[in-house]
Amino acid sequence: MNPYVYHGHVFHEHIPPSSHYETPERLDRAIHGLENYGLWNRFQQVEPPHGFKELALKIHDHDYVELVEKLSSRGGGWLDSDTYVSRGTWRAGLAALASAKDSVERTLSTVTHKSFILARPPGHHAGRSGPAMGASTLGFCIFNLSALAALELADRGLVVGVLDFDLHHGNGTQEILYEAPKIYHVDIHQDPWTIYPGTGLPEDIGRGPGKGTKYNVIVAPGSGDDIYLEAARYAIGLLLRYHVEVLVVDMGFDAYRGDGLSATMLATSNTYHGIGEMIREELNPRVLIAILEGGYTHGLERGLPAFIAGILGERDPVEDEATESDPSKIDFLKGNIRRLERAIKS
Ligand SMILES: [Zn+2]
Repeated sequence: MNPYVYHGHVFHEHIPPSSHYETPERLDRAIHGLENYGLWNRFQQVEPPHGFKELALKIHDHDYVELVEKLSSRGGGWLDSDTYVSRGTWRAGLAALASAKDSVERTLSTVTHKSFILARPPGHHAGRSGPAMGASTLGFCIFNLSALAALELADRGLVVGVLDFDLHHGNGTQEILYEAPKIYHVDIHQDPWTIYPGTGLPEDIGRGPGKGTKYNVIVAPGSGDDIYLEAARYAIGLLLRYHVEVLVVDMGFDAYRGDGLSATMLATSNTYHGIGEMIREELNPRVLIAILEGGYTHGLERGLPAFIAGILGERDPVEDEATESDPSKIDFLKGNIRRLERAIKS
């Protein structure tokens, strides 16, 4: 069956007060990219459900949720130097959470086991009470959809995987799920010493009952397809090692070459198509829920269609030329994987 896609006007109602990277046009770019490569008609479209405050309170503290509600009802403002709230943010943020919860129910109870959520505002930097793990800002995020989806799946007794391949560390997701057992979160991201949010080291492997279930796979600035595919192969291997049954994906396309926010990474359609293919052929989860995180220009127009084609078992329609990385950056990845393996064994 064709996968579900959650999208709708409500996700355009989170509007920046001035020039900003995170704009409603991002969703137009994503949909245009899918149309352009003949993939948009492959989805069953789902209107985002109306969301309620209780959903946000399941993953965030009361004071933070109230702050977003209050700012939004007053017409908007800035939560920090990166992250704005507009009049429509409250409605959009809750509809995004409701889409994540509805996705869990639909994919588990119908013959369609795949769901893609093209929502805004994004969520993977949003921690329990705002900025996560000591980060300076919320990095454009408001409510954490992937943490909610993972917890909803875990509540049903399933062994859950979370794979985040956004350029940046999913520090909010990791913070919220840090002590959760049976939620295996692998996060591939740029070396935190060189980029926001500055978190996500190989030694951060979870705490208490969640110890040994969180994994940070670090790549050097300037990494190309060869490194991203190697990192993804390792990440999928970890999820297989722990017999993950269902998968939540934080799909961020900001490591795509020239996407805008980072001028350094060299991932192309080969990376995203390859990750989609690995999920389908090697992990083959019972349920897949993929949530849009970063990606600002070409990443949305070219990386997203390549990923969807990989998931659907189709050839890469974008066909970028593959990029190769400097050998020192390959060594950097390998060294960090060794650090991670030592941390898991300790
Ligand atoms: Zn990002």
